[in-house]
Amino acid sequence: MYLNDIEACYVRTLSAKVIEVGNDGKNYFILDRTVMYPLGGGQPSDTGIVFWNGGHIEIDEVRQKGPIFHYTMEEPPPVGTQVTVNIDWDKRYRHMRMHTAQHIMSSIIWKRYRARTVGNQIHTNRSHIDFCPLYLSLDDLKDIEVEVNETIQRGHKVNVVLRDRSFFENLEDIKRIDMDRVPKNITKLRSIEIGENGYIDRCPCAGTHIKNTSEIGLIKIIEKRSKGKERTRVEYTLEKSNL
Ligand SMILES: [Zn+2]
Repeated sequence: MYLNDIEACYVRTLSAKVIEVGNDGKNYFILDRTVMYPLGGGQPSDTGIVFWNGGHIEIDEVRQKGPIFHYTMEEPPPVGTQVTVNIDWDKRYRHMRMHTAQHIMSSIIWKRYRARTVGNQIHTNRSHIDFCPLYLSLDDLKDIEVEVNETIQRGHKVNVVLRDRSFFENLEDIKRIDMDRVPKNITKLRSIEIGENGYIDRCPCAGTHIKNTSEIGLIKIIEKRSKGKERTRVEYTLEKSNL
């Protein structure tokens, strides 16, 4: 994958060559390399613009189907065209901040209540995490928000480390992570580690993240909702940017 270094999450533009063009119900093209994040892991796909000598089109969705397919409503450039890919950075950067905040909240709720993250969906403006088993009072929500924001503001580094699957399987705190969600054939995992030796959080993840928690700014918990037996959804948003 192209994101084995936290700095790679900050690359907004890249030169590449078109190696395949097609239509699978919608026009798509494949590049020899890309910086665009495909839909997956609870994080939306990037969008952006691809420029070439004489034209440009919008990319409105990116999916990984083996290679990474860039979808467009317009006519893609022909095979062999040298292009420049530009990510919609404002959107991606919000996803990176939202996603890193998700790691922090998931870890705090695991440590406080032993409730595991069983689902999450990042959006630009409003994201949610599902926990199980978990019941929360409004006071609990306030306490969680305070602890998440205090953690964010301490400015912890976020690192990407490649680790063997067995490393996670042998961790004492393994239940924070649902290894059943990681396909068995994946033996090397991309571990997102927040704080020294991942003491704030350490979790296999293929998404995009910021490199220091202070970049998140502050989060605000909007509400909690029951999502069935012992399952609670917590919704949150970004309160402000430090930038
Ligand atoms: Zn992540």
